[in-house]
Amino acid sequence: MTVYDDLVGQGPVIEQLQAAAAAGAKALAGEGGGGMTHAWLFTGPPGSGRSTAARAFAAALLCPDQGCGHCASCHQVLSGTHADVEVVRPAGLSYGVRETRELVLRAASSPTGGRWRIVLFEDADRSTEQAANALLKAIEEPPTRTVWLLCAPSPDDLVVTIRSRCRLVTLRTPPAHAVADVLVRRDGIDPDVAAAAARAAQGHVGRAKRLATDEQARQRRADVLGVPARLSGVGPAVVAAESLVKAAEAEAKELGVEKDAEETAALRQALGESAKGRMPRGTAGALKELEDRQKSRTTRMKRDALDRALLDLASYYRDLLVVQLGAGVELVNVDRGRELRSVGGTPEATLHRLEAIMECRERLEANVNPLLAVEAMAMALRTG
Ligand SMILES: [Zn+2]
Repeated sequence: MTVYDDLVGQGPVIEQLQAAAAAGAKALAGEGGGGMTHAWLFTGPPGSGRSTAARAFAAALLCPDQGCGHCASCHQVLSGTHADVEVVRPAGLSYGVRETRELVLRAASSPTGGRWRIVLFEDADRSTEQAANALLKAIEEPPTRTVWLLCAPSPDDLVVTIRSRCRLVTLRTPPAHAVADVLVRRDGIDPDVAAAAARAAQGHVGRAKRLATDEQARQRRADVLGVPARLSGVGPAVVAAESLVKAAEAEAKELGVEKDAEETAALRQALGESAKGRMPRGTAGALKELEDRQKSRTTRMKRDALDRALLDLASYYRDLLVVQLGAGVELVNVDRGRELRSVGGTPEATLHRLEAIMECRERLEANVNPLLAVEAMAMALRTG
Protein backbone atom coordinates (compact mmCIF):
# COMPACT_ATOMS: atom_id res chain seq x y z
CA MET A 1 0.00 0.00 0.00
CA THR A 2 0.97 3.65 -0.41
CA VAL A 3 -0.49 7.00 0.59
CA TYR A 4 -2.15 7.23 -2.83
CA ASP A 5 -4.43 4.20 -2.35
CA ASP A 6 -7.58 6.27 -1.82
CA LEU A 7 -7.16 8.24 -5.03
CA VAL A 8 -9.57 6.81 -7.56
CA GLY A 9 -8.81 6.89 -11.28
CA GLN A 10 -6.05 9.52 -10.96
CA GLY A 11 -2.99 7.77 -12.46
CA PRO A 12 -1.33 10.86 -14.00
CA VAL A 13 -1.79 12.88 -10.80
CA ILE A 14 -0.18 10.13 -8.72
CA GLU A 15 2.82 10.08 -11.05
CA GLN A 16 3.13 13.86 -10.84
CA LEU A 17 3.00 13.82 -7.04
CA GLN A 18 5.47 10.94 -6.73
CA ALA A 19 7.96 12.85 -8.86
CA ALA A 20 7.37 16.00 -6.81
CA ALA A 21 7.86 14.15 -3.52
CA ALA A 22 11.13 12.75 -4.87
CA ALA A 23 12.24 16.27 -5.82
CA GLY A 24 11.28 17.45 -2.34
CA ALA A 25 13.38 14.74 -0.74
CA LYS A 26 16.34 15.76 -2.90
CA ALA A 27 15.91 19.39 -1.92
CA LEU A 28 15.93 18.35 1.75
CA ALA A 29 19.07 16.31 1.27
CA GLY A 30 20.71 19.40 -0.22
CA GLU A 31 21.04 17.80 -3.62
CA GLY A 32 19.19 20.70 -5.15
CA GLY A 33 17.90 19.80 -8.56
CA GLY A 34 14.83 21.87 -9.35
CA GLY A 35 14.32 22.50 -5.66
CA MET A 36 10.96 22.52 -3.96
CA THR A 37 7.78 24.22 -5.13
CA HIS A 38 6.23 25.94 -2.12
CA ALA A 39 2.71 26.46 -3.41
CA TRP A 40 0.45 23.90 -5.04
CA LEU A 41 -3.08 24.17 -6.29
CA PHE A 42 -5.18 21.00 -6.41
CA THR A 43 -8.21 21.36 -8.65
CA GLY A 44 -10.93 18.99 -9.80
CA PRO A 45 -14.69 18.58 -9.72
CA PRO A 46 -16.38 17.96 -6.34
CA GLY A 47 -15.81 14.43 -5.11
CA SER A 48 -12.85 13.76 -7.41
CA GLY A 49 -10.52 13.75 -4.40
CA ARG A 50 -8.80 17.15 -4.31
CA SER A 51 -8.21 17.12 -0.57
CA THR A 52 -7.46 13.38 -0.59
CA ALA A 53 -4.72 14.02 -3.14
CA ALA A 54 -3.36 16.98 -1.18
CA ARG A 55 -3.30 14.95 2.03
CA ALA A 56 -1.53 12.07 0.30
CA PHE A 57 1.06 14.49 -1.05
CA ALA A 58 1.56 15.97 2.43
CA ALA A 59 2.15 12.46 3.76
CA ALA A 60 4.60 11.71 0.95
CA LEU A 61 6.57 14.90 1.66
CA LEU A 62 6.91 14.06 5.36
CA CYS A 63 7.52 10.32 4.98
CA PRO A 64 11.17 9.16 5.01
CA ASP A 65 10.09 6.76 2.25
CA GLN A 66 8.21 9.33 0.18
CA GLY A 67 4.76 8.01 1.02
CA CYS A 68 4.96 4.39 2.17
CA GLY A 69 1.49 4.61 3.72
CA HIS A 70 2.34 2.61 6.85
CA CYS A 71 5.02 4.42 8.85
CA ALA A 72 4.11 6.53 11.91
CA SER A 73 4.46 9.77 9.96
CA CYS A 74 2.15 8.58 7.15
CA HIS A 75 -0.43 7.43 9.72
CA GLN A 76 -0.34 10.76 11.50
CA VAL A 77 -0.79 12.77 8.34
CA LEU A 78 -3.58 10.59 6.99
CA SER A 79 -5.44 10.61 10.32
CA GLY A 80 -4.97 14.36 10.73
CA THR A 81 -2.73 14.33 13.81
CA HIS A 82 0.69 15.23 12.41
CA ALA A 83 2.17 18.28 14.16
CA ASP A 84 3.62 19.69 10.93
CA VAL A 85 0.42 19.56 8.91
CA GLU A 86 -2.31 22.09 9.49
CA VAL A 87 -5.58 21.45 7.72
CA VAL A 88 -7.74 24.50 7.13
CA ARG A 89 -11.35 23.76 6.37
CA PRO A 90 -13.44 26.93 6.09
CA ALA A 91 -16.59 26.06 8.02
CA GLY A 92 -18.77 28.73 6.52
CA LEU A 93 -19.21 30.51 3.26
CA SER A 94 -15.98 32.42 3.52
CA TYR A 95 -12.61 32.52 5.25
CA GLY A 96 -11.67 35.87 6.70
CA VAL A 97 -8.58 38.02 6.72
CA ARG A 98 -7.93 37.79 10.47
CA GLU A 99 -7.95 33.98 10.38
CA THR A 100 -5.68 34.02 7.34
CA ARG A 101 -3.12 36.34 8.95
CA GLU A 102 -2.94 34.08 11.99
CA LEU A 103 -2.57 31.08 9.73
CA VAL A 104 0.27 32.72 7.78
CA LEU A 105 2.12 33.34 11.05
CA ARG A 106 1.73 29.74 12.19
CA ALA A 107 2.79 28.48 8.79
CA ALA A 108 6.09 30.34 9.07
CA SER A 109 7.28 28.40 12.13
CA SER A 110 9.86 25.65 11.69
CA PRO A 111 8.69 22.07 11.20
CA THR A 112 9.02 19.98 14.39
CA GLY A 113 9.99 16.88 12.41
CA GLY A 114 12.70 18.68 10.47
CA ARG A 115 11.17 18.17 7.03
CA TRP A 116 8.37 20.50 5.93
CA ARG A 117 5.69 22.57 7.52
CA ILE A 118 2.56 22.04 5.45
CA VAL A 119 -0.69 23.94 5.29
CA LEU A 120 -3.50 22.10 3.53
CA PHE A 121 -6.14 24.66 2.65
CA GLU A 122 -9.39 23.02 1.58
CA ASP A 123 -11.88 25.16 -0.34
CA ALA A 124 -9.34 27.94 -0.76
CA ASP A 125 -11.82 29.54 -3.15
CA ARG A 126 -13.86 30.57 -0.11
CA SER A 127 -11.20 33.06 1.02
CA THR A 128 -12.46 36.60 1.04
CA GLU A 129 -10.60 39.04 -1.22
CA GLN A 130 -8.66 40.52 1.70
CA ALA A 131 -7.84 37.04 2.96
CA ALA A 132 -6.56 36.12 -0.49
CA ASN A 133 -4.25 39.16 -0.36
CA ALA A 134 -2.87 38.07 3.00
CA LEU A 135 -2.33 34.60 1.58
CA LEU A 136 -0.65 35.96 -1.52
CA LYS A 137 2.06 37.65 0.55
CA ALA A 138 2.85 34.35 2.25
CA ILE A 139 3.01 32.51 -1.05
CA GLU A 140 5.16 35.15 -2.73
CA GLU A 141 7.87 34.92 -0.11
CA PRO A 142 7.55 31.47 1.44
CA PRO A 143 9.78 30.45 4.35
CA THR A 144 12.20 27.79 3.06
CA ARG A 145 10.46 24.89 4.82
CA THR A 146 6.82 25.88 4.33
CA VAL A 147 4.60 24.25 1.70
CA TRP A 148 1.09 25.46 0.85
CA LEU A 149 -1.39 23.00 -0.61
CA LEU A 150 -4.50 24.84 -1.81
CA CYS A 151 -7.64 23.09 -3.04
CA ALA A 152 -10.34 24.60 -5.26
CA PRO A 153 -12.82 23.35 -7.86
CA SER A 154 -10.95 25.05 -10.73
CA PRO A 155 -8.00 27.43 -11.19
CA ASP A 156 -10.46 30.19 -12.14
CA ASP A 157 -11.85 30.10 -8.61
CA LEU A 158 -8.71 31.74 -7.25
CA VAL A 159 -7.42 35.22 -7.99
CA VAL A 160 -4.91 35.13 -10.80
CA THR A 161 -2.08 36.46 -8.63
CA ILE A 162 -2.29 33.40 -6.38
CA ARG A 163 -3.00 30.96 -9.17
CA SER A 164 0.04 32.04 -11.17
CA ARG A 165 2.35 31.30 -8.24
CA CYS A 166 1.09 27.76 -7.73
CA ARG A 167 1.95 24.56 -9.49
CA LEU A 168 -1.24 22.96 -10.72
CA VAL A 169 -2.41 19.45 -9.89
CA THR A 170 -5.48 18.69 -11.98
CA LEU A 171 -7.75 15.84 -10.95
CA ARG A 172 -10.30 14.50 -13.36
CA THR A 173 -13.73 13.04 -12.76
CA PRO A 174 -12.96 9.38 -12.07
CA PRO A 175 -14.70 6.93 -14.41
CA ALA A 176 -17.68 5.05 -12.93
CA HIS A 177 -15.92 1.68 -13.12
CA ALA A 178 -12.98 2.99 -11.05
CA VAL A 179 -15.37 4.35 -8.41
CA ALA A 180 -17.28 1.06 -8.33
CA ASP A 181 -14.00 -0.83 -7.95
CA VAL A 182 -13.00 1.10 -4.88
CA LEU A 183 -16.43 0.64 -3.26
CA VAL A 184 -16.10 -3.10 -3.72
CA ARG A 185 -12.45 -3.35 -2.71
CA ARG A 186 -12.30 -0.83 0.13
CA ASP A 187 -15.83 -0.88 1.52
CA GLY A 188 -16.88 -4.44 0.74
CA ILE A 189 -19.99 -3.32 -1.17
CA ASP A 190 -21.78 -5.75 -3.48
CA PRO A 191 -20.52 -5.25 -7.09
CA ASP A 192 -23.97 -4.61 -8.62
CA VAL A 193 -24.93 -2.10 -5.94
CA ALA A 194 -21.51 -0.45 -6.31
CA ALA A 195 -21.85 -0.19 -10.09
CA ALA A 196 -25.29 1.45 -9.92
CA ALA A 197 -24.23 3.85 -7.15
CA ALA A 198 -21.04 4.82 -9.00
CA ARG A 199 -22.98 5.61 -12.17
CA ALA A 200 -25.59 7.61 -10.27
CA ALA A 201 -22.94 9.59 -8.39
CA GLN A 202 -21.26 10.63 -11.66
CA GLY A 203 -17.70 10.38 -10.41
CA HIS A 204 -18.26 11.69 -6.86
CA VAL A 205 -16.62 9.00 -4.74
CA GLY A 206 -18.11 10.01 -1.37
CA ARG A 207 -21.59 10.35 -2.78
CA ALA A 208 -21.32 6.98 -4.49
CA LYS A 209 -20.55 5.42 -1.13
CA ARG A 210 -23.50 7.17 0.51
CA LEU A 211 -25.87 6.05 -2.26
CA ALA A 212 -24.61 2.49 -1.92
CA THR A 213 -25.02 2.37 1.85
CA ASP A 214 -27.73 4.85 2.84
CA GLU A 215 -31.33 4.02 1.97
CA GLN A 216 -32.48 7.57 2.75
CA ALA A 217 -29.96 9.07 0.34
CA ARG A 218 -31.21 6.70 -2.36
CA GLN A 219 -34.82 7.68 -1.64
CA ARG A 220 -34.02 11.39 -1.81
CA ARG A 221 -32.39 10.90 -5.18
CA ALA A 222 -35.38 8.91 -6.46
CA ASP A 223 -37.66 11.78 -5.36
CA VAL A 224 -35.58 14.26 -7.35
CA LEU A 225 -35.68 12.08 -10.46
CA GLY A 226 -39.46 11.91 -10.05
CA VAL A 227 -39.79 15.69 -10.42
CA PRO A 228 -40.02 15.82 -14.26
CA ALA A 229 -43.05 13.53 -14.25
CA ARG A 230 -44.78 15.79 -11.72
CA LEU A 231 -44.59 19.02 -13.74
CA SER A 232 -48.10 18.75 -15.19
CA GLY A 233 -49.16 22.33 -14.47
CA VAL A 234 -48.17 25.57 -12.76
CA GLY A 235 -49.49 24.45 -9.37
CA PRO A 236 -47.69 21.10 -9.35
CA ALA A 237 -44.50 22.80 -10.58
CA VAL A 238 -44.56 25.19 -7.60
CA VAL A 239 -45.14 22.25 -5.26
CA ALA A 240 -42.27 20.30 -6.84
CA ALA A 241 -39.95 23.30 -6.47
CA GLU A 242 -40.85 23.65 -2.82
CA SER A 243 -40.25 19.96 -2.17
CA LEU A 244 -36.80 20.14 -3.82
CA VAL A 245 -35.77 23.00 -1.54
CA LYS A 246 -37.29 21.39 1.58
CA ALA A 247 -35.56 18.07 0.89
CA ALA A 248 -32.18 19.81 0.55
CA GLU A 249 -32.78 21.66 3.82
CA ALA A 250 -33.70 18.43 5.58
CA GLU A 251 -30.58 16.71 4.28
CA ALA A 252 -28.33 19.57 5.38
CA LYS A 253 -29.93 19.61 8.83
CA GLU A 254 -29.51 15.89 9.23
CA LEU A 255 -25.81 16.13 8.39
CA GLY A 256 -25.23 19.28 10.42
CA VAL A 257 -27.25 19.01 13.63
CA GLU A 258 -25.20 16.21 15.13
CA LYS A 259 -21.95 18.01 14.39
CA ASP A 260 -23.27 21.28 15.84
CA ALA A 261 -24.35 19.62 19.08
CA GLU A 262 -21.00 17.85 19.52
CA GLU A 263 -19.03 21.02 18.89
CA THR A 264 -21.15 23.08 21.25
CA ALA A 265 -20.87 20.50 24.03
CA ALA A 266 -17.08 20.31 23.56
CA LEU A 267 -16.71 24.08 23.67
CA ARG A 268 -18.94 24.48 26.75
CA GLN A 269 -16.84 21.90 28.53
CA ALA A 270 -13.59 23.54 27.45
CA LEU A 271 -14.85 26.90 28.71
CA GLY A 272 -15.62 25.44 32.14
CA GLU A 273 -19.31 24.58 32.21
CA SER A 274 -20.50 23.80 35.75
CA ALA A 275 -22.18 20.53 36.73
CA LYS A 276 -25.50 22.39 36.65
CA GLY A 277 -24.87 23.57 33.10
CA ARG A 278 -23.92 27.16 34.07
CA MET A 279 -21.28 28.93 32.04
CA PRO A 280 -18.55 31.07 33.65
CA ARG A 281 -18.61 34.82 33.09
CA GLY A 282 -17.12 36.11 29.85
CA THR A 283 -17.69 32.97 27.78
CA ALA A 284 -20.80 34.17 25.94
CA GLY A 285 -18.75 35.73 23.15
CA ALA A 286 -16.97 32.50 22.30
CA LEU A 287 -20.23 30.56 22.27
CA LYS A 288 -21.86 33.18 20.07
CA GLU A 289 -18.94 33.00 17.66
CA LEU A 290 -19.32 29.23 17.38
CA GLU A 291 -23.05 29.61 16.82
CA ASP A 292 -22.44 32.08 13.99
CA ARG A 293 -19.94 29.75 12.39
CA GLN A 294 -22.37 26.85 12.61
CA LYS A 295 -25.14 28.93 11.02
CA SER A 296 -22.87 29.85 8.17
CA ARG A 297 -21.88 26.21 7.71
CA THR A 298 -25.52 25.09 7.65
CA THR A 299 -26.22 27.64 4.92
CA ARG A 300 -23.35 26.23 2.90
CA MET A 301 -24.54 22.65 3.43
CA LYS A 302 -28.07 23.53 2.33
CA ARG A 303 -26.72 25.11 -0.80
CA ASP A 304 -24.50 22.11 -1.53
CA ALA A 305 -27.38 19.66 -0.98
CA LEU A 306 -29.62 21.63 -3.33
CA ASP A 307 -26.87 21.78 -5.93
CA ARG A 308 -26.46 18.00 -5.75
CA ALA A 309 -30.21 17.59 -6.30
CA LEU A 310 -30.02 19.87 -9.35
CA LEU A 311 -27.15 17.80 -10.74
CA ASP A 312 -29.27 14.66 -10.29
CA LEU A 313 -32.11 16.37 -12.10
CA ALA A 314 -29.72 17.38 -14.88
CA SER A 315 -28.62 13.76 -15.19
CA TYR A 316 -32.25 12.86 -15.97
CA TYR A 317 -32.45 15.33 -18.87
CA ARG A 318 -28.97 14.40 -20.00
CA ASP A 319 -30.19 10.79 -20.25
CA LEU A 320 -33.32 11.93 -22.04
CA LEU A 321 -31.15 13.72 -24.58
CA VAL A 322 -29.09 10.56 -25.08
CA VAL A 323 -32.31 8.63 -25.79
CA GLN A 324 -33.74 11.33 -28.08
CA LEU A 325 -30.55 11.57 -30.13
CA GLY A 326 -30.10 7.81 -30.23
CA ALA A 327 -26.53 8.33 -29.01
CA GLY A 328 -25.06 4.97 -28.04
CA VAL A 329 -23.83 6.27 -24.67
CA GLU A 330 -24.53 4.60 -21.34
CA LEU A 331 -27.30 6.20 -19.27
CA VAL A 332 -26.56 7.61 -15.82
CA ASN A 333 -29.97 6.36 -14.70
CA VAL A 334 -30.06 2.93 -16.31
CA ASP A 335 -33.08 1.90 -14.26
CA ARG A 336 -35.14 4.67 -15.88
CA GLY A 337 -34.42 3.63 -19.46
CA ARG A 338 -37.97 2.55 -20.20
CA GLU A 339 -39.53 5.69 -18.71
CA LEU A 340 -37.11 7.89 -20.66
CA ARG A 341 -37.96 6.19 -23.94
CA SER A 342 -41.67 6.90 -23.37
CA VAL A 343 -41.25 10.62 -22.60
CA GLY A 344 -41.05 11.92 -26.17
CA GLY A 345 -40.35 15.60 -26.95
CA THR A 346 -37.57 17.19 -28.96
CA PRO A 347 -33.84 17.42 -28.21
CA GLU A 348 -34.17 21.23 -28.45
CA ALA A 349 -36.71 21.32 -25.62
CA THR A 350 -34.51 19.04 -23.52
CA LEU A 351 -31.52 21.31 -24.09
CA HIS A 352 -33.60 24.29 -22.95
CA ARG A 353 -34.48 22.39 -19.79
CA LEU A 354 -30.82 21.56 -19.12
CA GLU A 355 -29.99 25.24 -19.58
CA ALA A 356 -32.71 26.17 -17.09
CA ILE A 357 -31.13 23.87 -14.49
CA MET A 358 -27.64 25.27 -15.07
CA GLU A 359 -28.99 28.82 -14.85
CA CYS A 360 -30.67 27.96 -11.56
CA ARG A 361 -27.36 26.64 -10.20
CA GLU A 362 -25.64 29.89 -11.16
CA ARG A 363 -28.33 31.97 -9.51
CA LEU A 364 -28.05 29.96 -6.31
CA GLU A 365 -24.30 30.46 -6.32
CA ALA A 366 -25.01 34.19 -6.65
CA ASN A 367 -27.17 34.04 -3.49
CA VAL A 368 -30.59 34.36 -5.09
CA ASN A 369 -33.34 33.16 -2.75
CA PRO A 370 -33.38 29.35 -3.28
CA LEU A 371 -37.15 28.98 -3.48
CA LEU A 372 -37.46 31.76 -6.07
CA ALA A 373 -34.64 30.37 -8.20
CA VAL A 374 -35.96 26.80 -8.09
CA GLU A 375 -39.53 27.91 -8.84
CA ALA A 376 -38.37 29.81 -11.91
CA MET A 377 -36.48 26.69 -12.99
CA ALA A 378 -39.52 24.46 -12.45
CA MET A 379 -41.59 26.77 -14.67
CA ALA A 380 -38.96 26.57 -17.42
CA LEU A 381 -38.79 22.77 -17.07
CA ARG A 382 -42.55 22.56 -17.48
CA THR A 383 -42.67 24.45 -20.77
CA GLY A 384 -39.26 23.41 -22.16
ZN1 LIG B 1 5.53 6.59 5.34
